[in-house]
Amino acid sequence: MEQIYVEKTASRGIAVARVYKHQEPEWTPDQHMITAAQMEEELGKFRQARENVMQELSALASENEIFAAHLEIAGDFALQEGIEAKIAGEQKNAQLAVHEVVEEFAAIFEAMDDAYMKERGADIKDIGKRLMEKLKGIQRQDLGMLREAVIVAAKDLYPSDTVKLSPEFVKGIITEEGGVTSHVSIIAKSMNIPTLVGVKGILNKLEDGMLVCMDAGKGIIVTEPEEEVQQEYLAKKQAYEEERARLRRLRELQAVTKEGKRISLCVNVGNAEDIRHALDMKIDGVGLFRSEFLYMENSHFPTEEEQFQVYKEAAELCPQELTIRTLDIGGDKELSYFTFEKEENPFLGWRAIRISLDMKEMFKEQLRAILRASAFGHVRIMFPMIISPEELKAAKAIAAECKTELAQEGKAFDPDIELGMMMETPASVLLAEEFAKEADFFSIGTNDLTQYLLAVDRGNKKIADRYDYFHPAVVKAIGEIIRAGHQEGIKVGMCGEMAGDSRATELLLELGLDEFSMSAGSIDDIRAEILKEQA
Ligand code: PEP
Ligand code: MG
Repeated sequence: MEQIYVEKTASRGIAVARVYKHQEPEWTPDQHMITAAQMEEELGKFRQARENVMQELSALASENEIFAAHLEIAGDFALQEGIEAKIAGEQKNAQLAVHEVVEEFAAIFEAMDDAYMKERGADIKDIGKRLMEKLKGIQRQDLGMLREAVIVAAKDLYPSDTVKLSPEFVKGIITEEGGVTSHVSIIAKSMNIPTLVGVKGILNKLEDGMLVCMDAGKGIIVTEPEEEVQQEYLAKKQAYEEERARLRRLRELQAVTKEGKRISLCVNVGNAEDIRHALDMKIDGVGLFRSEFLYMENSHFPTEEEQFQVYKEAAELCPQELTIRTLDIGGDKELSYFTFEKEENPFLGWRAIRISLDMKEMFKEQLRAILRASAFGHVRIMFPMIISPEELKAAKAIAAECKTELAQEGKAFDPDIELGMMMETPASVLLAEEFAKEADFFSIGTNDLTQYLLAVDRGNKKIADRYDYFHPAVVKAIGEIIRAGHQEGIKVGMCGEMAGDSRATELLLELGLDEFSMSAGSIDDIRAEILKEQA
């Protein structure tokens, strides 16, 4: 028996089952160079493989949005062009060309600091594997064929493998690679399969058929457990499932505090697919739509029309409240199609609203798209990283200009759309009273507010223990923001990670927070915390 501790939980839950090791096929590309005479043949092989992959993905796209996104990537002209250029220009065979271009594209995403964007590299690699399957004639192990209770262990699982899993038989997943925001993690979570990802070296410790207990919430794997430990885990599993069922039943209740105050429970999302997943949790709306993902996943600045379609879909899915934050790029988030000048301190540099105000035409395209979507639901606009009332006024003036233009063009929008701001800079706290007179709502971004108030980089592991949103300075700032907002009669929410931390709920309610916005996975727990208050 060995107990292994793991850092990254992708989907909580407890499992006791035998290991099924998922073997990766041999993906290494053929390395030979081609002659000029073979060029057409290799181009033909690639085009045929691409055609087959597109057909395969088209069939899957209607059932699952992840594959709709894959279909878009597979159809991306830059990807195709890059591969064909390697075959025609560098005399690489089709396998080698696909391998190299996919690795290059994936590396761009993997180099990003943002965890969500990093994981998009895995999606590109998944498409690369589909192409390679066709080129090499590989038959992949079909995980949909599993018919006994197992814990699947793999180096990594790609979305194309994960969607086939049946929660009836797959009791748990353990992967050596991957992160908590990978699509594998998202799918596993939506299927309620306990999942641990990024468990380095685990495949050397697990054998096919080996009995394993895992507690994904606590990050523990026990190999070859003794009878007593097995029983202990089976009991924990039952208790855990009963507790989740109790939390699910609470979804029917509204989040009301003991003083009778109705609290809004909202989600943070990056796209419409996230909203669809969150609807089951009985949410009151979207407190943060991170629009930058739309820019980061594209190969060009998304046009007004492209953005409008996305925001409209989101507004229709979530009619209660959809808070769209304008582009928050820069800092750790980059764009593949736009070169940012190297900065000494990117988090203190050209980011978020600073870029939008400097690139007015691009900003207007986004504001027009959001305004047009506001005709389809309760849409709110939120500006990030504001440090001065002048900035907020400038952003509002541009929004007003867009409204005038749209009205002249006869395009529908909500004329009373609320314009709010993120409270995530020390300056916004110190000037909160002034801001409260200008903004229609506040949303506290504790992720940045903590890093800027404490001068502790939010992504630096070495000082992670100093990054603490319970620090008295952060708590005092939150209290001040809520007080100033309420003094002017505006609603104050929070969309930083603290809102989804149940250890903070009581404190935040005492401070008077009106809206908690978090990732969907935390909604049940925070609702239960608020209702506990009521008892
Ligand atoms: C925050 O700073 O708390 C926030 C929600 O925004 P982001 O994490 O996207 O910077
Ligand atoms: Mg922020």
